[in-house]
Amino acid sequence: MPRKWYNIVADMPNKPLPPLDPKTKKPIGPEALSPIFPQEVIRQEVSNERYIDIPEPVLEKYRIYRPSPLIRATELEKALGTPAKIYYKYEGVSPSGSHKTNTALAQAYYNSKEGVKKITTETGAGQWGSALSYACAQFGLECEVYMVKVSFEQKPYRKILMNTFGANVIASPSDQTESGRQVLAKNPHSTGSLGIAISEAIEMAVKDEHTKYSLGSVLNHVLLHQTIIGEEALKQFEMTGDYPDVIIAPLGGGSNFAGIAFPFLRNKLQGKRDVRAIAVESASCPKLTRGTFMYDFGDTAGYTPLLPMYTLGHDFEPAPIHAGGLRYHGASVLCSQLLKDGLIEASAIHQIECFEAGKLFANTEAIIPAPESNHAIAQTIREAKACKEKGEVKTILFNLSGHGFLDMSAYGDYNAGKLSDYNLPQSRIDESILKAEALQPQ
Ligand SMILES: *Cc1c(COP(=O)(O)O)cnc(C)c1O
Repeated sequence: MPRKWYNIVADMPNKPLPPLDPKTKKPIGPEALSPIFPQEVIRQEVSNERYIDIPEPVLEKYRIYRPSPLIRATELEKALGTPAKIYYKYEGVSPSGSHKTNTALAQAYYNSKEGVKKITTETGAGQWGSALSYACAQFGLECEVYMVKVSFEQKPYRKILMNTFGANVIASPSDQTESGRQVLAKNPHSTGSLGIAISEAIEMAVKDEHTKYSLGSVLNHVLLHQTIIGEEALKQFEMTGDYPDVIIAPLGGGSNFAGIAFPFLRNKLQGKRDVRAIAVESASCPKLTRGTFMYDFGDTAGYTPLLPMYTLGHDFEPAPIHAGGLRYHGASVLCSQLLKDGLIEASAIHQIECFEAGKLFANTEAIIPAPESNHAIAQTIREAKACKEKGEVKTILFNLSGHGFLDMSAYGDYNAGKLSDYNLPQSRIDESILKAEALQPQ
């Protein structure tokens, strides 16, 4: 197993632009983050070092489910009749069923080492909350998860999973925080949003010196921790004698895409070996393909520093698609800069094509994928079909970021023909971008 995470900042031709203070529009220093994150996480967030050692206690926990398998999808290849070789890395073997455990364990470890007693976070679909609940239990920390009320009510199994790992799961908006009470005073029947849940979780962390907050995507340190996926894949490909021509992963905030792609991009950036890396987003939340590269808030409510990224505007509200993990208005700073520099590619796919791809995958490779992961499968099928038409033998690698065993209602809706594709009008994007334009530095 690899013993270091890879920090792509060291090899980027254009370094990421600094985060800005929303009030002064001046670059913000790392110390601004210390009320909410532990020191080591902040150090990693702003690091330029190429490699960062994975601490031994984290490696020990990784060994429970890693290395994750690299699997040749021979049955899918046959069903498509493609000359392409298709491989996938399967992150669904992790204790919470997705790649998110890779950063949850690292973050829980650094918090416990610095004497933190409790971690708060928010969760929408429940994948991140599940991963952090498990990780906190491993390192003896309390975990408090603010779960968007509508998911809290619709996804009882995710909540039970988190409770089983010992976490306290609270429907957001709640009456336990000032921000929650404010929302409830205005609307007692509010079903919540990720933005509200974030403010509740951050408020609890800021109020108590033994409590910190944790984020499951978007930030540099989260992407860093995920590179264990690609580092393993590099070694596994050495054993097969193959090397991917194309790497494909779904993109919500960018962490699993970065995780699988960045170690291969290192070879590209260092001029050793070329590769195409394609981030696949939901067509109903298309920040990479239809968004604007600009400064914007990382969260809906506007609590975070301003980040330079591809965004649809922080108050853009995506249609309620089943791939909850892809309903984020922006893309991480690192992925955004790489896309701007033409070093990675992006594609946006509607949900029905994604579920068709997921169903074919389930019937050939015998794993029900997470709705988010279906986006990578759909793009893989497009590439494999193109290979068939052109008679090209390419090697394709995609990230199966999670399993879909707790997403049965999504598959139920698909099987019943209840899904529809949402054609996002340009005017909706223009509206929210206009608001973000007011935030730009002069
Ligand atoms: C959260 C999630 C995603 C999207 O988040 P990224 O940070 O872009 O990786 C994709 N797949 C699964 C299974 C997820 O849980």
